[in-house]
Formats: sequence, C-alpha cells, structure tokens
Amino acid sequence: MRWSRYYIPTLKEAPADAEVVSHKLLVRAGMIRKLTSGLYSFLPLGLRALNKSGRIVREEMDRAGALEIVMPVVQPGDLWKESGRWEHYGRELLRFVDRHDRDYCLGPTHEEVVTDLVRGEIKSYRQLPVNLYQVQTKFRDEIRPRFGLMRCREFVMKDAYSFDKDEPGAEASYRAMYDAYSRIFSRMGMRFRPVQADSGAIGGSFSHEFMVLADTGEDTIAVCRDCDFAANLEKAPVAFSGAPCTETCPPMEEVPTPDTHTVDEVAAFLGVAPARVVKTLLYVADGEPVAALVRGDRELNEVKFKNLLGAAEIELAEPARVVELTGAAVGFAGPVGLKGVARVYADNELMAATDWVAGANRTDAHVRHLDLARDAAVTVFADLRTITAQDPCPVCGGALELPRGIEVGHVFKLGLKYSEAMNAKFLDEEGKERFMIMGCYGIGVSRIIAACIEQNHDEHGIVFPIPLAPFEVVVLNLAPKDEAVSAKAQEIHDFLEAQGVDTLLDDREERPGVKFKDADLIGCPMQLVVGGKGLERGVIEAKDRRTGEKSELDAADFAAAYATWRAGVERGWADYAAFRDGAAASAKGGGE
Ligand code: ATP
Ligand code: MG
Repeated sequence: MRWSRYYIPTLKEAPADAEVVSHKLLVRAGMIRKLTSGLYSFLPLGLRALNKSGRIVREEMDRAGALEIVMPVVQPGDLWKESGRWEHYGRELLRFVDRHDRDYCLGPTHEEVVTDLVRGEIKSYRQLPVNLYQVQTKFRDEIRPRFGLMRCREFVMKDAYSFDKDEPGAEASYRAMYDAYSRIFSRMGMRFRPVQADSGAIGGSFSHEFMVLADTGEDTIAVCRDCDFAANLEKAPVAFSGAPCTETCPPMEEVPTPDTHTVDEVAAFLGVAPARVVKTLLYVADGEPVAALVRGDRELNEVKFKNLLGAAEIELAEPARVVELTGAAVGFAGPVGLKGVARVYADNELMAATDWVAGANRTDAHVRHLDLARDAAVTVFADLRTITAQDPCPVCGGALELPRGIEVGHVFKLGLKYSEAMNAKFLDEEGKERFMIMGCYGIGVSRIIAACIEQNHDEHGIVFPIPLAPFEVVVLNLAPKDEAVSAKAQEIHDFLEAQGVDTLLDDREERPGVKFKDADLIGCPMQLVVGGKGLERGVIEAKDRRTGEKSELDAADFAAAYATWRAGVERGWADYAAFRDGAAASAKGGGE
C-alpha cells in the first residue's frame, strides 16, 4: 500500500476531550474520528487494526468449536420483558418504538435473542452442546462515554453463548472459552491476566475477566506474587483467622465530639488511631435500610455487601434518610441505637478486637469502649471490606500486589437464568424435559485496540504488537524524487507484500523528519528506511519500533537479512509478552 494513495490524516495535537493516551494517539494517528459522544468512525488504518483483532478472535473461537452467526442489532422489547430485563437493565438500554408502537431496543448484548433462537430449534440432548457467537456492533447508552474506544456507546463486541445438557458439559464449555481467550490474548502479544470476577448470585469461580495490564486501567486487580491467585478487587476475599476477640473493655460511654464528621477528625479528637474507629455506613437495599460496619481505615466493598444481602440493588442512604435513621446530623451514625434498621452487618475484622469508637447517633457525640458483641446487635460478621496490598494472599498467604488493568474479555457461567425465564428446554436421554445450561462470553474487539495502545506506546506514538498492527512494516522512501531510491523502496515493498506481510510504503513528497515522526506515531512495529546514502553503502536501515534499536540490512541480500532481523524483533516481543511465566511484579505497562 502506498501512503500517498492511502488516507492517514495524522495530527500534531490531540483533541481537547482526550484524557487517556490511547484516545489521543488513535485520533492523532488518523485511525478514528469522533462523530459525537461515544460514537466513532474508523478510518482505514483504524479499521485494519480492528479487523486484525476480529480475525484473531474468530480464528480461536472457530478452533474452540464455536459457530459464527449474526443476530439483529434491533431487538423486540417483548423478549426483554420475558427475561425480566426490560425492567432491570436500566438506562444503558436504548429503547424506542416502531411505527406500530411496539417496543424495541438496540442490543447491548444478546442473551434474549440467542435463547429465543435456540429454544425454537434445539429439542434434543443429541443437538447439544452448541456454542454460537457473533462479532457485532453493540449499543449501550453509557452514562459517561469516555476514553475513546475504551468506553463508547457504540462498540464492536464478540459475544458467544453456550448451551449444555448438564453441569459437566457446561463446565467443559466454560473451560474451552477460558482457554480460547488465553490463546487470543497471547496471540495478540499482550500482557494480560485472567482474574476471578464477581459472579453475583451464581457464586463460585464461574466468572473470569481477562485484564490487559496497564497503569492507566480503570480496574484494579489483586495478584499474588507467589501463587496463581488473581482476582478483581471487587471479588478478592480477605483472609480471616476466624478467631473472635476474647478480651473485654470498660463500659461503653458517650463522649462529646463537636464538629467531628470524618473518621480522621474523630480519631484525632479522641486521640485514637483511625483503625480503632468503627465506620457505620447506612444503605438502602431493595427499599430496606441496612447498616454496614467496617474499620475506620478500611473501605466497604459494595459488591461483597450486595452479594451478602442477596439484594438486586443497594445504594447509600440519602442524607435526609441518614438523619431520620440516626436521629442525628450526618457523620454521627453508629451501630447502637439506630431507628428502623433491623439488620446490621459487620466486617470480620471487627470481630477480632474490642474497645471501639463509633458514632453515638446523636449530633456532636460518639461512643467509646464499644464492644460490638456486648453492646450492639450485629446480624452477622462477614467479609465486607476491600482487600489491600498489605493483606496476605487469601490462597497461599503470600504477598499481594494491586496492578491496574483494562477488562477486554469476560467469561461467565449463566446457569439457568435465561433458559428458565424464557423456557428453553430439551429432552434428555430419558425423554425428560430439562432446561439448557448456558454460558456467555464477551470480548471487546474494539476496546482491545485501545487497551493495546495503553499498554504499548511511548512519547512518540503507538507501538503496535505485530499481530494487531495495521501494517507490520512501513518502508520509508526518503528520496521519492530519486529514481534509484524509489525503485529500491518499491522493490522491497513488493517483495514483502508477496510474502504476505502487510506493508505500507511512505512514498509521499515530505521531508524525512515528517516521515520519521509519522512512522513512529502510527506505530508499525518494523520500519525500513531506504535513502540515498544508505544505498551508496549498500544498506537499508531497519528500526525495531518497540526497542528503538537500529540495524543495517544488506541491500544486496535483502531477503535473508530481513528474515534474520525480523526473527529477532519477533523474539523480543515474545519475551516481553511472556512475563506471566516470571514474577507478576514485572507486570507493568510497557511504554511507561
Ligand atoms: P465494563 O465493566 O467495562 O462496563 P461490562 O462488564 O459491562 O464491562 P460485558 O457486558 O461483559 O462488559 O461486555 C463484554 C466486553 O465488551 C467487555 O469485556 C469489554 O471488553 C467490552 N465492553 C463493554 N462495554 C464497553 C464499552 N462501553 N465500550 C467498549 N467496549 C466495551
Ligand atoms: Mg458495562
């Protein structure tokens, strides 16, 4: 491909609304353009990267035995009413009516449609298992679309759905997808970790997120340095010895604490450590007020709390409600004497000590010498807080670290959720009707491109891993007016193309400086520079975009020199991506 005939509108400046580096570079490299909030057009270079991402995903899905289909983007509201999600999905679901006044939505995901498809077709255990997938544009009316391709409203997803006749089958289907995902992200040359994720009501380890490691990631994960443990922070259990405290403390008493609203203010005022204060958080869970207690220096983990309650929805109580429940101003809630709060949940850690400070449910007052077992009615002690880097690994007791990551894929065992709600049954070996056991598996085909750039870039631009690069090699013709140079550059381009290497020939009438800058910006992993001086000496200069390392290739024996050099570049990438065999400690973003 000749650059002069191609469309790569590179920019010097990033758009004002671009906060993260992938967004800036995707726009600057002429790969995407914004239409409006959360909606992007892919320009030719961007589309090439997107297609490479999609191709690898498809190849590995096919290899795992999944079958590609395409389902409509527009979905009838009736199906969503049947599954119950028309009520529950919230405003990310873009709903509209057609000319006959029937409800429709734009598909954010396809569980309903695929279940409807399968229940009409599959009748017997002989037709199971089946795994159907598609690569398709999804629409989610995200509350805060941002970060370019990372969180759009319209984006490309690979979604797959498995249907099995029994539990062992469903587990095998899940495993097959987990393995396929591992192959996909390995093949893409990315540094990633599969981590245990929250699986809500289903529980168990039947949900994993695939995280691309990058310092700019939206998610934090807990990773053990010593064993295989890796979990989303929402999910990571905190180890607890289970031993309750046996000490006693003096009787509880109320003390005035004027104008102390935060844990730190109270702790400082009373001369105790924040870790001696009980933080009382009031929530409304499916309409009912409940209290959660954690140590003053800890964070309540809302996902754990929600799962413990088995609630569909929880939210922090509004200030007015807090006043009503405590009879005090906001900032003085405590576990003793709440009005109309029947259930009080405490983090395990609060079981392990006594003599606490807590709010007194009276304005400008706290209590001290609080013994939760003696003075408060705790419904249950449970694991309610978010793990920290100081906690031991919950599996082996080893040291943890908390790197950041970007979720690019998710495998999830659905069980009977949709098949029961939508009556997707089959006849088993004994002729008995059973519900199909389902799994769903998503990959953000377009988010992968953003995640890849977050992980692989430097101050000059994008550094694409070879498998995702729009062009693997860019050939820079430094003297387009010089016939000999141009002929050589063209010859190299044609030779590489004939070998099946995606090659871009920069034949523009631009200064070398512009070409070097643009080549670095668009991130082709391999650069070949053809110039008059080099040719006089019989060499083509080669640059490994990742390391910046330059080599000279013998122009007379180009094929062999290129093959050797490329093999070295590929080895470098493989070593870089293979960090998972070493310590997780090295799991840092590449370009930082
Ligand atoms: P997130 O927590 O980031 O919102 P999700 O849990 O809603 O993700 P899934 O429903 O599991 O995501 O979707 C499957 C995949 O689709 C995700 O792993 C992610 O890679 C991608 N994805 C989800 N939402 C978006 C979005 N708004 N823009 C781009 N990609 C997305
Ligand atoms: Mg989401």
